[in-house]
Amino acid sequence: MTMVGMSDVLYRKYRPQRFEDLTGQRAIVTTLTNQLLFGSTAHAYCFSGPRGVGKTTIARLLAKALNCTQRASDSAEPCLECAQCLAMTQGNSLDLIEVDAASHTGVDHVRDAIIAATRVATAGAKYKVFIIDEVHMLSISAFNALLKTLEEPPSHTVFMLATTEAQKMPATILSRCQRFALRPILAEAMMGRLGFIVKKEKLTVDGPALEEIVRSAGGSMRDALSLLDQVVVFAPQGAGRDAVRELLGLLSQETVASFMAVLKANDPKTIVSEVVKYLEKGGDLSQLARDLQERCHLLLQVKAGLESFPGEDLAELSRSAKAYSFDELERNIRLLGRCLEEMRKSPCPQAVFQAFCLRMSQPGVDIASLSRRLEALERKISQSGGAQKSVPPEVSSAPPDPPAFKPPDPLPPPPVSSEFSADPKPDSSERIDADLLRTQWPSFVQEVQKAKPSLGHCLEDAEASVTAEGSILLTFSFPTF
Ligand SMILES: [Zn+2]
Repeated sequence: MTMVGMSDVLYRKYRPQRFEDLTGQRAIVTTLTNQLLFGSTAHAYCFSGPRGVGKTTIARLLAKALNCTQRASDSAEPCLECAQCLAMTQGNSLDLIEVDAASHTGVDHVRDAIIAATRVATAGAKYKVFIIDEVHMLSISAFNALLKTLEEPPSHTVFMLATTEAQKMPATILSRCQRFALRPILAEAMMGRLGFIVKKEKLTVDGPALEEIVRSAGGSMRDALSLLDQVVVFAPQGAGRDAVRELLGLLSQETVASFMAVLKANDPKTIVSEVVKYLEKGGDLSQLARDLQERCHLLLQVKAGLESFPGEDLAELSRSAKAYSFDELERNIRLLGRCLEEMRKSPCPQAVFQAFCLRMSQPGVDIASLSRRLEALERKISQSGGAQKSVPPEVSSAPPDPPAFKPPDPLPPPPVSSEFSADPKPDSSERIDADLLRTQWPSFVQEVQKAKPSLGHCLEDAEASVTAEGSILLTFSFPTF
């Protein structure tokens, strides 16, 4: 997510100094603290995961614990008081070298700052620790230089590589590291940490506001704390959920829910005028589309049976979700995705948005019932095909070796426009004839459109063909409805 302006006062202030202060990543913390307790730490680690989930925080903690001179033998926690701990906390330790590969991608820098540094003894600490952030950004030659060191690491060095894109890392480097994949931090854990900070700082930010912050942060503790910083500045007298949504540029849930209701009512005039009204109030259509998509996603999850939605009124969501089918919500999510994409490219996003709103308001086709209908259709065409086998001129399924010319048959023309419930012939074959399908398909679709416009519209987009087994195959270019 994009922050309104990065602010990291709280993030810096509350950066964990002990393993027990870390939010989330418990399995990784347990493994590392056990290694510290048993003296079985490695010479190279790779921490991967999305931004703001604690990669460099864990690396720094590990560095501190490794070099702490007063760490109790039965604890993995650094003492935070010895000279090594203090130097690392203050950022002036000569034995903790941090490199941001995103800004130093040259091979020379790696060679000078890392490779050469590994050759000199530590400046007093037990280990010289190198933390290389965003390591996937290194050039190939820089990786090669690093690889040489990792192949035979001096006993006093520890490399801690951090990356948001582990898939871009050379396998040769990864195979020499102990790898830890950090996950986005769970909402519950983030709520606990934010609640602790709010209490400690005596901030007036209520629970629903915190829930909204957690939801927007998407598992990143750094984003959550940045946002909390901004919320405090934005609403110093006290912030609720609406203040957070306003700060994030999000619409209130009520606005989004009422727009969903407008779409559901399927009245084109109201839909178009609501869009115009929204624009006149200075609304951002892309934001509305994103919020509608998020709302559909929420309702889909409620229908699927999920119950934990921080900051949401579950009773209200359940009530709203009842009005929609799975197919409808899935279709809306997909259509809104396409809408956002097309709005970006269009010189007239308003027209695109209105068109998609009208499309969404049309009742969707239920796949299961569509399938049943198509089967019925297949049977009818098949029966109808059988009825025509005796009609000579253009029907290719005529008996073998027909005469070169046959006078016009006295039989009436095939019942093209009549209903497909034409009397089935007992001897009619189950196989569909391709030519028959081709000639009769358009009129069939027309008939369907008269009776069931939505299904007819859907069939119009389909390409009908006959399979080797003689069944009708309908091909829809994705997405169709
Ligand atoms: Zn210490």
